[in-house]
Amino acid sequence: MVNLKQLVKNPLKAFGSKSSKDFKPEVFDRHVMTTYGRFPLALTRGAGCRVWDDQDKEYLDFVAGIATCTLGHAHPAMVEAVTQQIQTLHHVSNLYYIPEQGALAQWLTEHSCTDRVFFCNSGAEANEAAIKLARKYGHTKLGIDEPVIITANASFHGRTLATITATGQPKYQKNFAPLVPGFHYVPFNDIEALEREILALNANALRVAAILLEALQGEGGVNPGNVQYFKRVRELCDQHKILLILDEVQVGVGRTGKLWGYENLGIEPDVITAAKGLGGGVPIGAMLCKSSCDVLQPGDHASTYGGNPFVCGVALRVCQTLESENLMANANARGQQLRQGLLKLVNAYPHLFEQVRGWGLINGLVLQPDAPLKALDIVKSATVQGLLLVPAGPHVVRFVPPLIVSESEVNEALEKLTTAIQNVT
Ligand SMILES: *Cc1c(COP(=O)(O)O)cnc(C)c1O
Repeated sequence: MVNLKQLVKNPLKAFGSKSSKDFKPEVFDRHVMTTYGRFPLALTRGAGCRVWDDQDKEYLDFVAGIATCTLGHAHPAMVEAVTQQIQTLHHVSNLYYIPEQGALAQWLTEHSCTDRVFFCNSGAEANEAAIKLARKYGHTKLGIDEPVIITANASFHGRTLATITATGQPKYQKNFAPLVPGFHYVPFNDIEALEREILALNANALRVAAILLEALQGEGGVNPGNVQYFKRVRELCDQHKILLILDEVQVGVGRTGKLWGYENLGIEPDVITAAKGLGGGVPIGAMLCKSSCDVLQPGDHASTYGGNPFVCGVALRVCQTLESENLMANANARGQQLRQGLLKLVNAYPHLFEQVRGWGLINGLVLQPDAPLKALDIVKSATVQGLLLVPAGPHVVRFVPPLIVSESEVNEALEKLTTAIQNVT
């Protein structure tokens, strides 16, 4: 039996060790479902762009909760916002008006092409909300009985049943059938394939209510949207009265060097979903839409935690800090510096690497299809050097550091990565 008082003081004691610094993964896995393939690493504290494990080994964190910790770890603005909000009011029901929620919605809509916001707790839930909105829009505005939503191959939209169905990657759907009906898939950045799919669906009396795409495919391999493609997608949507939904869960809120991913594409979506970076690490999700497609009425959708004073108060401070610390300008400058450094590695190891791609501070180092290594091999080797990275599929190493990352930290990451690559080749 565990001693709860001791555990609260030091959770590492749950792992059966006398010392406070001895983490045993097998004890953890006995009690926590093994739904994640975890690195054998227990992180216990963080500051800025750095985290420390139970052995006090230091790591430069270029994962940032997978593009979530916008302000890094223990940022004074986060500490102050969390403390202030928990001392004032942290949770009340959406039965009542929540001023912080209204304030955040006002800032988000004034700084995007949208007019209204629904708040939830995660990226998958934001996409669920968008899917419900699109279906009701199809039924009530377009008179479609069974509205179809088109998504892209290699996309990622979350892990709920509807969002794994929206996700164009069979590995996430395997063994979870029956899936949610009403989704069709096309190759990303291929306008002719999209035109053909819309025509084919029309010919079968299946009508499209929405197209759901990422501005840049994150999990699918850090693959940016093509400007010409998105221009034509927007035209097709206007022509057929189809909603264009952009999943900006990974790229929204400053990560690309612009507040929204769509600003890199020269178009405006009808609906945006956001989550990861918005709360800087507190769980929040949001669906933003233009008033012209806001068909949701009281009773149509809800979330117990969605948009509570705590997360909205913190997200407001994240947005304020994005502005006050010029973090989007930093994302652009540091992103450019990082890509230049990575390009040198591509040139130094042409048999290993194909290219570098990305926007702002979401970047991918792409391995050659026949490289003798996988992205995971490089990530593991970098971990030994004290640099945390995350793969985006088998052939892409992803770099998503906090937006506060400094010039010297980017150089340090490049040095550690170079050593890591030398050690596996
Ligand atoms: C992470 C992610 C999601 C899912 O977000 P959760 O908060 O894990 O539900 C959806 N879409 C994209 C593009 C993502 O990167």
